[in-house]
Amino acid sequence: MSPGATRTRTRTTTTRSIGLVAFAAVAALLSWAGAASGDGGIGTPDPPRVKDIVCSDRCLDIRTVTETGKVEVTGRDLGETTAVRFPGAAGRIDVKPSKVESGRVTAKVPTGAASGKVIVESRYGTKAKAPEDLVVKPEDAIRSVKGFAVKRVEAAPKTAYFDGRKDIELDYLFEADEPADIRIDIVAKKKNKTVDSIIEKNVEPFSNQTATWDGLDAKGKPPRNGKYKFRVSALGGESGSSQATGFAYYDHIFPLRGKHYYGDGLGAGRGHQGQDVFARCGTKIVAARGGTVQTNAYQSAAGYYVVIDGKKTGEDYVYMHMEKKGRPKEGSRVRTGETIGRESDTGDATGCHLHFELWSAPGWYEGGHVLNPTRPLKKWDKWS
Ligand SMILES: [Zn+2]
Repeated sequence: MSPGATRTRTRTTTTRSIGLVAFAAVAALLSWAGAASGDGGIGTPDPPRVKDIVCSDRCLDIRTVTETGKVEVTGRDLGETTAVRFPGAAGRIDVKPSKVESGRVTAKVPTGAASGKVIVESRYGTKAKAPEDLVVKPEDAIRSVKGFAVKRVEAAPKTAYFDGRKDIELDYLFEADEPADIRIDIVAKKKNKTVDSIIEKNVEPFSNQTATWDGLDAKGKPPRNGKYKFRVSALGGESGSSQATGFAYYDHIFPLRGKHYYGDGLGAGRGHQGQDVFARCGTKIVAARGGTVQTNAYQSAAGYYVVIDGKKTGEDYVYMHMEKKGRPKEGSRVRTGETIGRESDTGDATGCHLHFELWSAPGWYEGGHVLNPTRPLKKWDKWS
């Protein structure tokens, strides 16, 4: 059976986990703000203030947790919290928090807890209520998968580009006694920050699986360039191992695919609108950024040239002095790294070179203006 047939990718759940990720950033910020403000020092400490509550373990949604899962209450002046109070079917249930920081309190959801507003109480008797309801589900709402262990994870390709020719994929395999819900986090290595999560429901064990990441963070933007990893774990958490596999992710590729050196940049005493990059005649030119081909034409100065409206940048990428008419048709989609032509000296050019221009949105002769492409080019050059 193909992996696609054995699992359903739940878009809704993905969206929820996106909220979770966005929240984590806010929580970190609040936690920092709390720490910076201090806890009063002299006199009566400030009463606690609660900004939000989210599920952190055994989660079905950002504010939906199962009994025995964990929640995080964030806010300010929470450092003296001694009890977290949950509504219960048979009256309130107080639990001792498992972790207390000024900006964040973690607590295990007790068996018997019911949905509703959670309250934190300090040792001084001051209280604060979470503004949002917490939804509590029975413990068996998330299956604990027995024998869960991730056996293999592999990212492909090892160097991935936003909107690249190859999808950014994770191959994985796990063992378990039954199908499991899988959580795949895309984590920026340097800051150990989860930028996106994918939830895959009811996945078959002992079967090679492939998950695809769209190269966008939880807010739908390309995340920072650099090293990332896919981390695979059971959605239920705590029930087993997780494993990770690394890859590099970049939002652009250097457009000239051969040995090259830089010529004139912007201005150059002659109103030059781009950066010239010299290379052997016929060197392959690829799209630095995928997008839609706006123009593929010939002009006496530019020679054969191609203008691509970059995906998610709104900027236009202009490639001039190509050997012949560019490969992609006007109006067609090209991917980052896709060949668009070969470098030459057509038009007003001395020596084979790529004349590259970068235009701000809305783009080339559409109301945008010329940007200095030299720094971006040199940046892309470093990694590609
Ligand atoms: Zn030029």
